[in-house]
Amino acid sequence: MDNAPQLSPEARLQAILDGTRAGTWEWNLDTGEVLVNHRWAEMLGYEPDELMPMTYELWQSLSHPSDRERAKALMARHLRGETPYFDCVVRLRHKRGHWRWIHTRGRRLSDSDPAINWVCGTHLDISGERETQHRLQRLAESLPGVIYTFVMKVDGSFGFSYVSQKSIDFYGIPPELALQDPDAIFDIIVNEDLGHVHASIERSARNMEEWRCQYRVQLAGEVRWMEGVAQPEKDEVGQIIWHGMITEITERKQLELELERLSITDELTGLYNRRHMLRTLEEQIARAKRYQEVFSVIALDVDHFKQINDSWGHLVGDQVLIQFAGVLSARVRRTDVVARTGGEEFLILLPNTTNQDAHRVAEALREATEREDFRNEDSETFTVTMSGGVVTWDDGLASIRELLSRCDQRLYQAKREGRNRIVVSDQP
Ligand code: GH3
Ligand code: MG
Ligand code: MG
Repeated sequence: MDNAPQLSPEARLQAILDGTRAGTWEWNLDTGEVLVNHRWAEMLGYEPDELMPMTYELWQSLSHPSDRERAKALMARHLRGETPYFDCVVRLRHKRGHWRWIHTRGRRLSDSDPAINWVCGTHLDISGERETQHRLQRLAESLPGVIYTFVMKVDGSFGFSYVSQKSIDFYGIPPELALQDPDAIFDIIVNEDLGHVHASIERSARNMEEWRCQYRVQLAGEVRWMEGVAQPEKDEVGQIIWHGMITEITERKQLELELERLSITDELTGLYNRRHMLRTLEEQIARAKRYQEVFSVIALDVDHFKQINDSWGHLVGDQVLIQFAGVLSARVRRTDVVARTGGEEFLILLPNTTNQDAHRVAEALREATEREDFRNEDSETFTVTMSGGVVTWDDGLASIRELLSRCDQRLYQAKREGRNRIVVSDQP
């Protein structure tokens, strides 16, 4: 190595400039003279002598009007000593008329010797990168959602490193603000949903699994449903990086919620249906087993309902069911669940309710029904009664089947004993 032939400093510099394909410029601040190398001219499609004499004014005339003032201001700041380097991207006009994106960097040399009043620097043609960037940006804008990159550092802090322009339409937040302050995005998430959004991000980070989350945001007083999907990856220093997209799903979600509501609602009365009651009872039984909770169930059946249909017709029968449902709803607590489980059969779940209290409720419902005026199509009033069986969850019961069959037993006992009554314990 020691004996290897040494390049002269000039040759070495030339090799570096050739290798990096950098153009060079030197600007004499006293005379206005500008020197550029061959590559500088070539970037813009010129031979160097075509640009002679090169001056600051010629540079200005080649620069894009939208970039010029900013470049001049940045240079002025550097010359005032406010920045260590001049660094800026400017479009310069190619000989054939199109624009090239040029990254220009430089530095004043006069620090040590006031007699040397030059600014020297380089040009790099970054048009290719710019073109790719613009293509990606156009692509991002054509997508039906916000695309983004989200980074969680090893210390648990997080932020966005990229957010597409669409965040203005979706969130009312410009990407620059989201990059600066990730809370700008999190702050508009509806409070009740914030917990599960954070939990889902943590779960995705822990298991390195896809993040998928639905949540609501509040924008200008309007609540909208969003869905985010992102794929996490870990980089070499252990940061987790998600690349993902957020789309608005308000319409789909409203439809979904409506379908869900319909699937658990009894069409005629608007009460819950049998399916929902069974599911709720399963959950209640699981809780009762785990936490030794007490709860009661009332099974109700309208007395001689067939006669109501037979006397006044099916439509009046339907009206009776609707009105009867109203009597029930009006007299139970908000935490109680009332369902129509069959033709004229109903179940009421009373959480945290002892047998004695459930008996009182059932009696009150029976009396209220008896007092209620029902009407036929000629507005003539008639009365309706009901029978009920009350069962309270205790150790003797093991399953929902046993619970419901016990309800039936007591209900039919009430029927056998003459109807319009409530039975709360098995026949001796
Ligand atoms: P009990 O006192 O023993 O309960 O006698 P019931 O007549 O009420 O009982 P039954 O089970 O014999 O008759 C129930 C009737 O309810 C039979 C059926 O036609 C009627 N029904 C079932 N669903 C509906 C409905 O949605 N609308 C109307 N109007 N009638 C219905
Ligand atoms: Mg019946
Ligand atoms: Mg009946």
